[in-house]
Amino acid sequence: MKLTLAIFGAFLMTSVVSGAEPVSEPFGKTKDGQAVELYTLKNSTGLVAKVMTRGATLVQLHVPDKDGKAADVILGFDDVTGYESEDNQYFGCTTGRVCNRIAKGKFTLEGTEYTLAINNEPNHLHGGLDKSLDKLVWKASPYSNEKGQGVKFTVTSPDGDEGYPGTLEITVSYYVPNDTNSISISYTAITDKATPVNLTNHAYFNLAGEGSETVLNHSLRLNADNYTVSDDTMIPTGEIAPVEGTDLDFRERTVIGKRIESIGKTAAIGYDHNFVLNAREEGKTMTLAAIVVEKESGRRMLVMTTEPGIQFYSGNFLKGQKGKGGKTYAHRSALCLETQHYPDSVNHENFPTTILKPGEKYESKTTYTFEIEKPEPAKN
Ligand code: BGC
Repeated sequence: MKLTLAIFGAFLMTSVVSGAEPVSEPFGKTKDGQAVELYTLKNSTGLVAKVMTRGATLVQLHVPDKDGKAADVILGFDDVTGYESEDNQYFGCTTGRVCNRIAKGKFTLEGTEYTLAINNEPNHLHGGLDKSLDKLVWKASPYSNEKGQGVKFTVTSPDGDEGYPGTLEITVSYYVPNDTNSISISYTAITDKATPVNLTNHAYFNLAGEGSETVLNHSLRLNADNYTVSDDTMIPTGEIAPVEGTDLDFRERTVIGKRIESIGKTAAIGYDHNFVLNAREEGKTMTLAAIVVEKESGRRMLVMTTEPGIQFYSGNFLKGQKGKGGKTYAHRSALCLETQHYPDSVNHENFPTTILKPGEKYESKTTYTFEIEKPEPAKN
């Protein structure tokens, strides 16, 4: 009898996760009538992620705490209408074609000057207005294998969309392995004309659970000895400077609130900086970029990436809007760790290039892994 139960239990586990393709449910319609689907990814160790076709967006991410109790650790809304509202500040979306800022919305490529929308005075931000990648409805292909399950989103951004040159074919895959509490986001893109590409995910995390009051009690370590210095409009000057001796020194794990008052008095009004990740170890394809810990829940998040930079944004513009289940998203109640090439790279020859040419393939990958941090044993 016991054996039969055990076999049945094992069958149930595997039928729920491994080998099973993610299922979808309707998530509402966009203002222009497009149906949006929400896919659920899960594994056998307690992680549940939900991703939607609008903006290839991460909508929910449930992970267990030290007592095994799961909470959703990212900000968002209950349906697509919330995502289309003024209250959405790029929550969980795929950001591009070029994430972050381009100075005055201008760049010159192969002798032609291009002009983009100025949607963050006086600069271009996160790919522009109504045709930026976060606002498009992507095609979804769910998949699974013996190691986990995923959804691959694809979209075509036509030549000239938001002022960018080239027809860009983009894929974004979310993947949840069966036996680890992690989610990987892999990006590819190809073009038929030289064009800048810089893709990231804009999830807002609060490891105590979305809707918790603050993120200032989280601690952060960034694997970055340097950052890109910016002017008062958040555009890099081109200088790469050491973090040592500044409020941006997160080389050792530091509570986020510790120096936020001081950095809050600068033009960035808090943390909103691009960090230059230290060179990755030889033979490794990904770099450990960041570790975030929230002590009460015991949740620890590791961010690994193939990208050279990471924007740490401390939710300075969150304004108390209502999110999932009517929860309030207060000023600095969540943080973003946006893995990416440096801001305004297209106008800085000394930065790693963001130009994709015909015949080349853009590839990028970031993994968020969730662990439990054991409290340190009491010293006597
Ligand atoms: C930017 C912030 C901006 C936020 C939301 C971040 O990536 O660096 O300045 O307010 O996105 O748009």
